[in-house]
Amino acid sequence: MKNIFSKLKWFFVEEWKKYVPMLFLLISISFIALLPAKLLGLSIDTIISKQLTVKSLSLLVVGLILLPVTRYLLSMIYNYMMNYEGQKLTYKLRSNYLDHLFTMDSKFYETYKKGDLISRVTNDMDGMTTAATAMLESIIFNFTNIVFAILIMGLTISWELTLVSITIMPIGLTILNMVRYQKRKYTKIHREIYAEMTEKVLESVEGMRVVHAYVQEEEDLNKQYKAIERDIESWRYIVNYENWFNPLFEVIYGISYFLAFAYGTYLIIRQSITVGELITFVSYVGMLMNPIISMSTVFSQINNATISVDRYDEIMQATPEVHDESFSKPIIDFNRIDFKNVTFKYPFDKQPVIKNIDFSIELGQTIGVVGPTGSGKSTLIRQLLREFNVTGGNIFIDEIPIQEYKIEDVRNLVGYVPQEHMLFRKPVNENIMIGNPNARNEDLDKAVKIADFEKDIIYLTDGLKTMVGEAGSTLSGGQKQRLSIARALIKDPQILILDDSLSAVDATTEQNIVEHLKEFRQGKTNIIVAHRFSAIREADQIFVMEKGMITQRGTHSELLKQEGWYKNQYIQQITMK
Ligand code: ADP
Ligand code: MG
Repeated sequence: MKNIFSKLKWFFVEEWKKYVPMLFLLISISFIALLPAKLLGLSIDTIISKQLTVKSLSLLVVGLILLPVTRYLLSMIYNYMMNYEGQKLTYKLRSNYLDHLFTMDSKFYETYKKGDLISRVTNDMDGMTTAATAMLESIIFNFTNIVFAILIMGLTISWELTLVSITIMPIGLTILNMVRYQKRKYTKIHREIYAEMTEKVLESVEGMRVVHAYVQEEEDLNKQYKAIERDIESWRYIVNYENWFNPLFEVIYGISYFLAFAYGTYLIIRQSITVGELITFVSYVGMLMNPIISMSTVFSQINNATISVDRYDEIMQATPEVHDESFSKPIIDFNRIDFKNVTFKYPFDKQPVIKNIDFSIELGQTIGVVGPTGSGKSTLIRQLLREFNVTGGNIFIDEIPIQEYKIEDVRNLVGYVPQEHMLFRKPVNENIMIGNPNARNEDLDKAVKIADFEKDIIYLTDGLKTMVGEAGSTLSGGQKQRLSIARALIKDPQILILDDSLSAVDATTEQNIVEHLKEFRQGKTNIIVAHRFSAIREADQIFVMEKGMITQRGTHSELLKQEGWYKNQYIQQITMK
């Protein structure tokens, strides 16, 4: 409990000007809630002692009407303020979380699954907001309620009776809380199962097309059902656990009631208290039940909320391995890039994917990278995006290690067209402008032209303003590729990287793009990963990647003179035509 409130302390400190009046309101409401029972007792005694006058009767009636009205008004103000604070906290937690996610590197995203990251900012965050509002309220309200009730019982009726009837309650409560404490671990398991289920749903929705295409609906649904069943089962475990131990409290409560009645009657006979007082007293014993149960429920919910806070916090505490230092240097252009003995291993792999890579690129060169699937081409060129740190050797830009430059600056040098396109639910032109939000119309037209996307526009219903469906469903594969290329080109980057980005375009279109690149990107660097040799035959240097290493290098004509993968593949490609 300390944990959760200390982790949210910053919010209470920021908002104390709201929380202080809320606290006063809450305490007043809690006190007012106890007064009608007291008034009732007074009325009964007045009636029994035959002292009822018009004046005392009207006072009692006015009191009985005014109290609930006041309580209602105060509650209204209080609830408004509390909901407002709850919303505010949700907003802050969520935006901090998102801000943080944007600073994280690829290793982080390999560590945490999407569904998990989402459940931490939905489910877990709701738990935290509830803790800072409803739970805190319940603790304060019920605690003051209990204290006031005991004070009224003791001070205005009888301490003796109070002690006799309520000492047994804390004992029951302690047992209850000890048992519930155990429940915490089941809750944690439940959270994990829930996150897994979310992940499965996400996967199915994202892969719906493939599921349909391979008529995998039944199998996929079975997978979902299993996940749902596991979720329900783990939840049922928790509920059963509660059901077993909650009724225990009612038994203890019954004993307490009995003691109040029996001993109270004895005190009336002894003339220590009046009938009205016993009625007030017994009502208070009755009124204690709810706050005590609520308090103990809150304590068990706080366990959940603590888990939520920890889960949220785990993400917020994560630091990216790839990050800027205070001494990071700016960079806006370069003359030369050197890979020196670069080795790279993905965080959760044992073996490196690329090994002992050595090469140099000079400004203005076009580089071709070819090789079998899985040989590490994408991994190699993506090193320039600083997604991960290299695991061996290093990359130098103008003789300075790449890690010493500002990450954003290095990424700004590069226009990267990934192998898998990511299109957003925005119009085509806005999808392109992501590459450079400040681009002018001429820049847009030029990028579209170089990417050979011009000819597609007339086929789109609203031209460049056509909305792109989710995951790019309204465009063909080749169109998506060209749109992605245009997005990189509108940035007019120092280094353009096409990662197998011409695979879905026909040979003529490919030739157009290659020609355009030659014409419009003079003096700039292009790195082209390709399957078709036609895309790279004019490159200044071509690297052949095999099993994570560069096994051949040279120009097209040089490589054709060597025995090896390049020549073999080339012969195969032309004979297939
Ligand atoms: P290519 O682009 O030549 O097809 P990749 O660079 O994509 O090759 O992949 C090289 C190897 O690295 C493959 O064995 C692939 O399975 C592995 N790999 C790619 N991405 C990851 C990743 N994020 N985590 C772990 N292994 C990966
Ligand atoms: Mg690849």
